[in-house]
Amino acid sequence: MKLEDKLFLVTFNADNQSHISVKDQAICAQCREKPCINGCPADCWEHEKEKNEVLVSFEGCLECGTCRIICPHGNIDWKYPRGGFGVKYKFG
Ligand code: SF4
Repeated sequence: MKLEDKLFLVTFNADNQSHISVKDQAICAQCREKPCINGCPADCWEHEKEKNEVLVSFEGCLECGTCRIICPHGNIDWKYPRGGFGVKYKFG
């Protein structure tokens, strides 16, 4: 089964406020690797080249915590979504 097919099996109850944010965009602007972009299994991160900002689409977050761990600058503020919000895994 491909990753896209697996992602199709999860559902989300997206909050209206993000549980993930960049602490300081100036740090991201200096970061060459930007591992959050390629490391996120749900493809939530993108580099907006015009403004040179790193953006996150928190609504599709799988709550794996990878982005927080792999950011070499500790520049991601991450917490679980509020109760009742976030990803819903169903098995079977
Ligand atoms: Fe992507 Fe995981 Fe970070 Fe969510 S916690 S944005 S799924 S890397």
